Amino acid sequence: MTDIFIVQLPSPPRKNVFREWSGGMGTALDTDRPEAGHDPGYYDIPYSAYLYIARRLQQDGVAFRYADLQANPWFDAAAFDAMFQAEQPGVLITQVNLPSFDHDLDLIARARRLVPGLRVILVGATGKWFRERILRQGLADVVMEESEELVVSDNAQALLRNQADQLQGCSIWRDGAVVGLPIRTPLQNLDFVDFPAYDLLDFSRYESNLYFGRRQRYATVFTTKGCPYRCGYCPYPYGFGRRLIYRSPAVVGADIARLKAEFGVQQILFRDQVFTINPKHARAVCEELVRRDLGVAWLCETRYDLVDQDMIDLMWRAGCREIHYGLESADETMFAAVAKSDGPKSLDLFERVIGWTKARGMRAHVHLIVGMPDESHTSVRNTSAWLRRVKPDSVQIGYFMPYPGTPMFEELRQSGELGDVETIEWGSLGAFSNPVLPSRHLSIEQIRKARHRISVDWQYTLADRVTNRLRRMAGLRVR
Ligand code: SF4
Repeated sequence: MTDIFIVQLPSPPRKNVFREWSGGMGTALDTDRPEAGHDPGYYDIPYSAYLYIARRLQQDGVAFRYADLQANPWFDAAAFDAMFQAEQPGVLITQVNLPSFDHDLDLIARARRLVPGLRVILVGATGKWFRERILRQGLADVVMEESEELVVSDNAQALLRNQADQLQGCSIWRDGAVVGLPIRTPLQNLDFVDFPAYDLLDFSRYESNLYFGRRQRYATVFTTKGCPYRCGYCPYPYGFGRRLIYRSPAVVGADIARLKAEFGVQQILFRDQVFTINPKHARAVCEELVRRDLGVAWLCETRYDLVDQDMIDLMWRAGCREIHYGLESADETMFAAVAKSDGPKSLDLFERVIGWTKARGMRAHVHLIVGMPDESHTSVRNTSAWLRRVKPDSVQIGYFMPYPGTPMFEELRQSGELGDVETIEWGSLGAFSNPVLPSRHLSIEQIRKARHRISVDWQYTLADRVTNRLRRMAGLRVR
């Protein structure tokens, strides 16, 4: 018997779901796999909060089991049933995500049928957004609202003891309504565990050549969590909170040293939403890594207006080899309106930052969103032209998704452009495979073509394209 199960649910058929991305709302890529599971070889990451929750349970001496059902390419329903029937857990801790919403809830309902009296705690942003529907339908007992890394262990133990009055930082269903239970011990920092429970992970699942061009084992680490900005499209402030929570530089250094020594990790993906959001903290983390000289390469995301040449140089000396910058659109008007406050001047600074990054020997990777509400043929042309001139090393192009909890979702809801929110196909939300909304100037099909056009335009000049077409016609390889 195990008191508590922590379960990462499998992806649904024909999708690979990436559960921690988009602030825990999740993203997805289409796949041909007709069964639930998760295709091997995709660059996936664990839901990090589980690793903190698990370590807290260990510290509290509570028996638990962690099951990653995305670790296998095929979901084994019989094994799922047998696991729950054999161990009869008292509490299930899990997460639902937008792209897999119905499938996730079906599996939770299945677990409840297998274990009468099973209590369910939902973590993550999606459960929080749908708290009313989920609690009303009895699909979960507790929906975490905040500080989940710290207090889920306490809440799970309270449920095992049938002490609902001890629950905190969550919502429950009581007397026909959602009741919010305030937090008593809010998360102050990420130092409350000595080492997140990385030992639960099958690291053979976290090896990839996606970054840095060679196959290596990687791990995710937070030096900060949360983001106080309000970029209109971004679900992170809702999902991870607007308050900044820190893990101390010395502890981050110790984590990475252990990840390398005990698990053979050679790359770190810093999951901070904005790695340099507090330059003092970022410098201290980098200086710690310089001091330890671990020979571990890392990458991070940050804002172009929160780095300078000194910071970039220090990051390089600390092992940073790739920086991801959120550009979203290089059309001056959209760039200024969507997120970045000072418009054209900022695009000029952005261009210089890309130059500094590349000059220091790091890859400059740029995130782009196609199909935001004001996207037009002109803005697409402007974005392509800027990218062709500035030439980042790589560009990731996602479709605009009206993630719930974002300022743009609210704006589109109020203007009526989202239509009837109750009829939204939430399962279609995910950043890469398909656009879900027309913009004010482009149809869904035009947005699809715009994405393709940008992806070709920024890499190839007109002369390249003509040459490639001729080579294709001659049956030669395209350059
Ligand atoms: S800076 Fe903007 S885009 Fe980046 S995490 Fe914060 S809100 Fe999101």
